Amino acid sequence: MSSDTSFELNSEGLRRAVELLDRRAHSERPSYEMPKSLPDRGLGEVEALERLAPDVLGRAANLGASDAIAHMDPPTPWITWALALWNARLNQNLLHPATAPFAREAEACVVEWLAPFFGMNGGHMAPGSSIANLTALWTARDLRGVKKVLASSASHLSVRKAARILGLEYVETVVDQRHRLDPATLPSDLSDACLVLTAGTTSVGAVDPLDCCGLAAWTHIDAAWAGPLALSDRHRSILSGVDRADSVAVSAHKWLFQPKESALVMFRDTEAAHASISFGGAYLAAPNIGVQGSHGAAGTLLLATLLAWGREGLAARIEHCMDNARRLQDFIAAHPDLEVFADGGTGVIVFRPASHSVDEFRAALPQGLASSANIDGETWLRCVSANPNADIERIIAAIDETCRRAAT
Ligand SMILES: *Cc1c(COP(=O)(O)O)cnc(C)c1O
Repeated sequence: MSSDTSFELNSEGLRRAVELLDRRAHSERPSYEMPKSLPDRGLGEVEALERLAPDVLGRAANLGASDAIAHMDPPTPWITWALALWNARLNQNLLHPATAPFAREAEACVVEWLAPFFGMNGGHMAPGSSIANLTALWTARDLRGVKKVLASSASHLSVRKAARILGLEYVETVVDQRHRLDPATLPSDLSDACLVLTAGTTSVGAVDPLDCCGLAAWTHIDAAWAGPLALSDRHRSILSGVDRADSVAVSAHKWLFQPKESALVMFRDTEAAHASISFGGAYLAAPNIGVQGSHGAAGTLLLATLLAWGREGLAARIEHCMDNARRLQDFIAAHPDLEVFADGGTGVIVFRPASHSVDEFRAALPQGLASSANIDGETWLRCVSANPNADIERIIAAIDETCRRAAT
């Protein structure tokens, strides 16, 4: 049999795939009616792309649109699209050094570059902060013998989930009015506990008092959202104290503008941490560290982004998002028809109409402008400044206009 060209470089097909990336054309095209069961005969690659483009590209939210500011999911820079294509072509497995010599170096390199900003000395990549949190808590259990996990009621559900998986008792503490963990409510003896502090809570962007680091047998900081502020000279102080943690989780697919799935778990003493969560196996040339087995080359995308932008380029984009958030927060706080939740200081804006239905107000806003958040049993609207291309004046005008229409 001659070689199967499906596995070879098809420049024409890939050129068509790149053309189709221009999303403006797709929203008008009809969806493909999907076969009810697995088709016996294939369409061929280019035809499959043509049929799928209206759905895959046309129906996804445009996270880089000028009024997209509802979620922690940023638009991604085009250099990551290119590297994702390269990665798919190579299909390297970081579990096997022989298949992925450079990809392993790339991951080690980004971890080595980023860990010092958090006072950590290494770590590894994970497919998200849920897995990064699980990895950190697993390390705390096996290295320090912790029996329970303490976190505030505003901590991410993945902390509770990790405690359950690991068979650790989960103890939830109350938060103050700004949704920060209240140190006064911590038990005096934390010698068998892992304390989880959140830097940038998912609902309101609050930062727990990071000076609680060191009170427990292990302190983990869930900096999934706000961690990247460590790269900004202007905003680094928000994370002051992070360097005294035992482990830190940061999602790169949030404020480091990476496609999913990309996150880091970092440790203050990486050698000891990795030794406690490392398994050798008969077919493995290097031990398998952490939760994942086969492990893709997300680090290569992050490396490319960091090389392309440098720290300053990355920080400038995060700072621009922070400026946008400040402008929006100030506008909402000054608006007589709107009520604003305490500013968490990490680019998450939470508000609601002072005297109208929150659901109706949200339905009247452009789609993608606000998500809803349930806080202490009440519904609020939430904007997250993860999109550097958000047009904040246009967003403000849309909110203002919605207020005016609601008032009549
Ligand atoms: C998003 C988030 C997580 C979970 O991270 P994933 O990357 O979605 O798995 C954990 N903690 C906080 C504070 C988050 O905002």
